Amino acid sequence: MIQTACYRGRFAPTPSGPLHFGSLVAALGSFLDARAAGGTWLVRIEDIDPPRCPAGTDSTILRQLEAFGLHWDEEVTWQHSRQAAYQHALDCLMSQGLAYPCSCSRKQWQAFAIYPGWCRNGQRETNKPVAWRLRSDLAKRPITWHDRLFGHQLFDPATQGDVVLKRKDNLWAYQLAVVVDDAEQAISDVVRGYDLLDNTPWQGQLQKALGLPTPRYLHLPLIVTDEGQKLSKQNMAPALAERADDIRRQLFQALQALDQTPPAELAQEAPETQLNWAIAHWSIEQLRPFHHRALPSEH
Ligand code: GLU
Repeated sequence: MIQTACYRGRFAPTPSGPLHFGSLVAALGSFLDARAAGGTWLVRIEDIDPPRCPAGTDSTILRQLEAFGLHWDEEVTWQHSRQAAYQHALDCLMSQGLAYPCSCSRKQWQAFAIYPGWCRNGQRETNKPVAWRLRSDLAKRPITWHDRLFGHQLFDPATQGDVVLKRKDNLWAYQLAVVVDDAEQAISDVVRGYDLLDNTPWQGQLQKALGLPTPRYLHLPLIVTDEGQKLSKQNMAPALAERADDIRRQLFQALQALDQTPPAELAQEAPETQLNWAIAHWSIEQLRPFHHRALPSEH
């Protein structure tokens, strides 16, 4: 059972484009889980990769959340302002021998499924820019946890490779930033898409190495296109609706995508009414543990 008093959840979008139906389902699942537990729900803008994040997309996302009635608590945070904290974490990993500089290019190891660790014991080519990688073989392994939907999980991160923590262009990588910020914001519950389930083992290694707590995890089924692809900007997923009646319909469909069986008449209701019903009835027992869900036709 969730400990209501200390529940802190978050929605952490990358502002590479406006929210689409798939991101609505993730935001809604995280919001409902927090609200049903009487918890706090935060929004964190994960803008560590400015070239991928067009100016103004963060405000578009916040406006979209408000239009769907997904109001957050506390101040919104932005990852671009957190460089010092990420550097501090990297320094801590370096001092334990768990991070190393790597000058290899993707092209050099393209014949391998994962980076083969050539720079683990010293940079292969000096005078070249370096990325910083995690020693996934030396950090805690295997990593196990109980996913609230998908149950017991066991991964050996060493078989997934030495993930990049800081890129050659000096930009911070998602794995490090997410772990540092979830801890900084005392997040108790991470609720996000199934596509991130296999990133969780690296995050678990980083939490252990940095002495940070591991939150509970609930990975939600991903919304996929007819071709089975995750909705994304790359496959032209349309942005969420803006007209009031379309917003009502999409919110209702998002509740259905989370297996919450809302009564049909709720589809006509304003977001606040739909959400109040959904908070009162939120049940993850109803969620079927499928990795994927089809996009509703005419969403
Ligand atoms: N920023 C990530 C994304 O938009 C989500 C991070 C997370 O929820 O851990 O895919």
